Amino acid sequence: MSVLLKNATYIDWKTLEFSVQDILAEENRNSITLPGDPGEVIRKQKPEVIDCSGKIVTKSFAVGHHHAYSALARGMGAPKRSPENFLEILKYVWWTLDKCLDPEMIEASALVTAIACAKAGSTFVIDHHSSPFAVKGSLGIIAGAFEKVGVSHLLCYETSDRDGQQVAAEGLEETSSWLEHHQGLVGLHASFTVSNNTLKQAVEMMNRFNTGIHIHVAEDLHDQDICLREHGKRVVQRLSEAGVLNSPKTLLIHCLHLENSEREIICNSPAWVVENSESNLNNNVGYFDGACFGENIMLGTDGMHSDMLQSARSAFFNGQRYDTINYESAYRRFRNVHRYLNENGFTGDGENSLVVLDYDPPTPFNSDNFPGHFIFGIGTHNVRDVISGGRVIVRDRQLTTVSEADVMTSARKQAERLWKKMSE
Ligand SMILES: [Zn+2]
Repeated sequence: MSVLLKNATYIDWKTLEFSVQDILAEENRNSITLPGDPGEVIRKQKPEVIDCSGKIVTKSFAVGHHHAYSALARGMGAPKRSPENFLEILKYVWWTLDKCLDPEMIEASALVTAIACAKAGSTFVIDHHSSPFAVKGSLGIIAGAFEKVGVSHLLCYETSDRDGQQVAAEGLEETSSWLEHHQGLVGLHASFTVSNNTLKQAVEMMNRFNTGIHIHVAEDLHDQDICLREHGKRVVQRLSEAGVLNSPKTLLIHCLHLENSEREIICNSPAWVVENSESNLNNNVGYFDGACFGENIMLGTDGMHSDMLQSARSAFFNGQRYDTINYESAYRRFRNVHRYLNENGFTGDGENSLVVLDYDPPTPFNSDNFPGHFIFGIGTHNVRDVISGGRVIVRDRQLTTVSEADVMTSARKQAERLWKKMSE
């Protein structure tokens, strides 16, 4: 299968070079070609042809940290008790929700998430999943749903001891059975919910499968307080001593409440930091500051939504007071996820994944001022077509792979079941 994007204004996502081109994206080929004679290509390969005159074409986007499992929470009623701090938000909202998830709800959540990602231009998702009473097989369900929509993935199960040793063991079992046959990460919830024994087993598994750990780090001060009380050390020191930071595949999510010594440990390691500024605002836990982390910073949505352009814009605006960020570094953080995936040999994020933007700005638009348009202009409403691995998955803002209406109808039924179960 292949698709020919005719007469596109192509923006090289690395160099920001603009050129008017015909672009051929093929399945099973990680690169794109710019054919000299499109007529010959059309005759020989019979690609799907999309007229991109006056349209922008560039590499599609990817989500650095997501929680598909939270997708059915939108519009949900208030919890039985009103949370007054971050730990209570987890206990009364998310840890109540994830305990009620069953396979049907997990599948609906993943389909809804994949559709939202695709329509927002993302063709790759790094997900962090939790369903403590439906652990076994959960990663396969999410993968199936993502692939049905046409979104590639790097999955993990977020193991923790918060629901007891049995559930923790199931989390690690699900992880290892997944990693036997698929690319993925070893997920842990956060330092404060992970025992020394679970942490040790997770790092052993990370080494055995030559992968990384995906964990929330110092999202709230609570994580540090518990770590100091129970382990007599700070979170990054604990994770570092356990070996978590030894892998360039490791993802440290949030990293808000860190001392300089911890920032240095991260900076001197190959591990990555993932910023989720809107989630931090929503949970009122603090502000991200990229100081001393080096270049290995990327962006996620933390399950808030699936719109990476919005995440980039939010990182830029929230960073004005507490972070050192400008148009260019906001764009780099937005695109760093491709470097993370590529440098670590993960598949599914090739150059044959593209987005067609219907963006008709009122001002000149070129390589030099691209970053200004990126922050203040281009939005998800401009995403017209999306090509994932050489396959068109969104055409004229409509999914081509699944019926969005059918998925939403069935998701609403699953949401009603979930909300009812949560209120029981
Ligand atoms: Zn998260």
